[in-house]
Formats: sequence, C-alpha cells, structure tokens
Amino acid sequence: MMTKQLSNRELELRVKYLEKKLGYLVAGSEQSSFWSMDHRFRILAEAAHEGIFILEDGYCVEANLSGCDMFGYTYEEIIGRSAASVFISEHRDLVREKIVSGDSGVYEAIGLRKDGSVFHAEVRGRNFDYEGRDYRVSTVTDITFRRNAEQKLIESENKYRSVVENAADGLLIGDGEGKIIDVNGSFLKMTGYKADDLLFSHISKLFDPEELKERPLRFDLLDLGESVIIQREIIDKSGVPIPIEMNSKRTSKDNYLAVVRDLRERIKAEENLRSVNRQLKEAKNKAEESDRLKSAFLANMSHEIRTPMNGVLGFAELLKSTELNSATREAYLDIIIQSGQQLLCIINDVLAISKIETGQMPVQFSRVDLLSIFEEIRLFFVPVANERNNKLSFSVCDEQICHSFECDETKIRQVLINLINNGLKFTQNGHVKFGVYREKEWMHFYVEDNGIGISANNLERIFYRFVQVSRGYNNNPKGTGLGLPISQKLVEMMGGMMHVDSEPAKGSVFHFLLPLR
Ligand code: ADP
Repeated sequence: MMTKQLSNRELELRVKYLEKKLGYLVAGSEQSSFWSMDHRFRILAEAAHEGIFILEDGYCVEANLSGCDMFGYTYEEIIGRSAASVFISEHRDLVREKIVSGDSGVYEAIGLRKDGSVFHAEVRGRNFDYEGRDYRVSTVTDITFRRNAEQKLIESENKYRSVVENAADGLLIGDGEGKIIDVNGSFLKMTGYKADDLLFSHISKLFDPEELKERPLRFDLLDLGESVIIQREIIDKSGVPIPIEMNSKRTSKDNYLAVVRDLRERIKAEENLRSVNRQLKEAKNKAEESDRLKSAFLANMSHEIRTPMNGVLGFAELLKSTELNSATREAYLDIIIQSGQQLLCIINDVLAISKIETGQMPVQFSRVDLLSIFEEIRLFFVPVANERNNKLSFSVCDEQICHSFECDETKIRQVLINLINNGLKFTQNGHVKFGVYREKEWMHFYVEDNGIGISANNLERIFYRFVQVSRGYNNNPKGTGLGLPISQKLVEMMGGMMHVDSEPAKGSVFHFLLPLR
C-alpha cells in the first residue's frame, strides 16, 4: 500500500497539538500513553461536525456521533457496517476502490441514509497501522448545502447569461471607471466588434471623439443614481455611425449597465410611415383633384355639347323655312355639319379615354412610312393653320428607318394630330414645326410652336385629365382637356414617353420618344 501510515508517536503528538488548541491540555500529559488518552480522542471526535469513522477491512469499527447522525444510524447499527453500504450503489465501487488503494485524497460521493434519503458527501481517508493491523480513518462532511448553494449560483449565473445573451438590445456592463467588463452578443452583432475588441476598453471608444467633446457622457448623473437616456450615434467597427438610444444606470458602486437600442430599423420604419402618409396624402389629393376635375368636366361638357347641339337643332329648325335661298341653305347646312363634327370630336375623346382606362384599346404594330403620314397630316391642317396665319412645316430624318418604322399607326397619327392641333390653336402669326429624328435606340418626335406657351407651374398639370390652363384665341378653347392625357397614354402604350418644354409668350415644344423595335 502506498499510503503514509502514522506511527503511534506521530498520532500522540498530533492529539497533543489538538488538545492544546482546544484548551484541553493537562499538565504532565506528555507522559500519557496513546490509549490513556482515549477519552481525549473521544472528546475531539465528538466535537467535530464531520463524521469520523475508523474502518478495518472496509468495515466500520468506530464512529463518532456526527457520523452516526449524518447517516441516520445508531452507534450500534453503524459498527460492523461496510463503509460502501452507506453510499448509493453507483458510488460503492468508488468508495471500495479508495479504501483498498489507501488513497488519501478528497473525493465526493452521494451518501445514503438509513431512511433512504441521500446527501452530497465529501470524503477523505487516511490509512494507519496499529499493532500490525491496517486501519483507515475516514472523515465525511455533508456538503449538500454548499453544493446546493454552488448549484444555485451556477443557475443564477446561467439565468443572468441567458437574459444578457438573449436580450434583443445591446447590453454593456462597465466597471466604476467606465471600462467595459461585459458585453452581449446583440451589441457585438450591432457594431461588428468582437468581445476582445471591447473588453477592458473605456466606453468612450464607441463614440466620435469630437461628438464626445460637445456632448460628454454623463457619469456625473449616473453617480447621483440617475438613469440617463440619450439618443446619439455610436461608431461601429468599420467606422460607420449607428443611431442608438442608450439607457444607462449605475447598478452598484463598481458597476453600471447600459442598454443600447439600435434605432436604424425604427428610423427606417418612421421614414416608411412618413412616405406612406405622403403617398396617401398625394393619392387623396389626386382623388379630390380628379373628383373636382370630373365635376368641372361635366359642367364643361354640358356647355361644350350644348353649343354645337344648339347649332344643329337651331339651324335645322331654320332650314324648315321654305323661303331660304340656296346660298343661305348651304351656309346653314355647313354650320350643322361643323357642329356635328365638334360633337363627334367630344364624344371620340371621351370614348378614347374610357377605352384606354378599361384596357379596350390594343396596340397593333406595323411598318409605316413616317414621311407619307407627316405629309398627309400637314395637308389636313393647312386650312386650320391659315385661319390664324400660321406656317406649318415638318422634317423627317432621311434614314431608312423613317420609311419603315414599326409602330401603331392609328395611335401615332392621333398623338401628332392632338399636338399639332394644340400648337395651331395656341399660336397666331407664327409657326408650328413637327418632325422626327433618331436618338440612339429611340425615335424622337417633336411638335414645336412659338405661341402663347405654358407657365412652369402648369407644365405637369396639363397632362391631367380635363385640365385646360389657357383658352385659345377668341377665348374659344374648342377642346375637352383630354387631348394631352390621351396622347401621353397612347405614347406609353407603345413603350414610349412624353414631356414638354415651354416658356410663356415664347412657345412650346412637345416631345415624345418611341423605342426602335
Ligand atoms: P384641349 O382639348 O383643351 O386642348 P389638351 O389636353 O390637349 O386639351 O390640352 C390641355 C391644355 O394644355 C390646353 O387647354 C392648354 O391650356 C394647354 N396646352 C396644350 N398645348 C398647348 C400649346 N401648344 N401651347 C399652349 N398651351 C397648350
């Protein structure tokens, strides 16, 4: 056996030492023999809180009262009992092994009381030899309370860790001087730092030094026990500022806690909300404007329809008279025809816009010769141009593409007619020029006049339905306010876009671009 066995003399010296410590030393005890001090051993053993057992061959031959109580046996019951039997079955081999090997180290095992209850035991043993026989003294301490306290400490530490780690907000714990001593995962994720980058650095590392000069951290308020909530920016690992809200409090003399909330999402959500509100407001304004325009349109429409209708009915009535000469009859018929055409025009525009809006106007592409379309339109408008002494001309790029351009012919005619008609309507003693040229992958069409022009604040509005911002010459708008919105829609249906440049009293240029297919 490898254990150090105590000689009788050594044991005797130890007992004396203990007696001295306990104040039991009796004069002349140096002369006492080992067994004459039996009662002193007993006193010592009984005074101990630990259970003390003397074992021989693994069986108990002596025990103190604490040992009996600890395992719930009487002195008589414990004497002769195997040491392994007072531990749970899973730990008996361990106990036996320690006894057999004479191991003097400390170990833990679960003690088993007579009533079947269990406790955490800390065991230490030492072998000694007495009169040639091998004995072992074992002391057993009930460490259940300590173990439970340790367990509770571990559980509370784990609970704290899990709260800290699972917190959605960043958490920083600082020492009394403002050095970071703990940081959670959320904060590291938010800032891109590693824990080692921050631990034991001063918290000011997280802020822009210039900013700190202007707005220092309020340790003075924290020292007064105040909670300090601030909104500012911290600088992340890559130097990018992050808007945050930081709620700090001194939690003890040596610690403070800072809860750091990333405000980026909140700011984004607020911006989104503001933008949605803006859009809603715009949509509401548009709806109100459209409603207002519709009412204005209806009022305008009834006026517009009534004028030509009166012309038709009035002159038809006059035609009934038999006393009319043929020239007058002819003139009346012309008025009826013109009024009819005006009515048709209005009805066509209303139909066109409703067809576009209900998707009943398909796009039909074909190859067309722009030169011949332009010439036809020019001829058609010559009488109108002459009415107000305007010159009408056009130019077409001489590229092959102009002679074989793929587009929806009806729609392109309609758009050109609307724009040229407007140009002539709002110009006097001037010119209207129209044409097309190639611009990269687009065909760029334009209709230019040097008429009354349009003020900047109306440039967008004229593309709204039913909007008329100026009346034509002779105060006669001869229109519905639908020509431009229809034209813009038709261009968009062909994959293009339309815009206008204009200056009051100088004239306007309407542009529309169609893609080369
Ligand atoms: P309208 O049938 O009234 O001409 P449009 O939608 O074609 O309807 O035009 C809307 C308004 O835009 C016109 O009433 C006019 O005020 C303005 N406008 C259009 N073209 C011109 C132009 N070439 N010069 C000046 N104003 C124009």
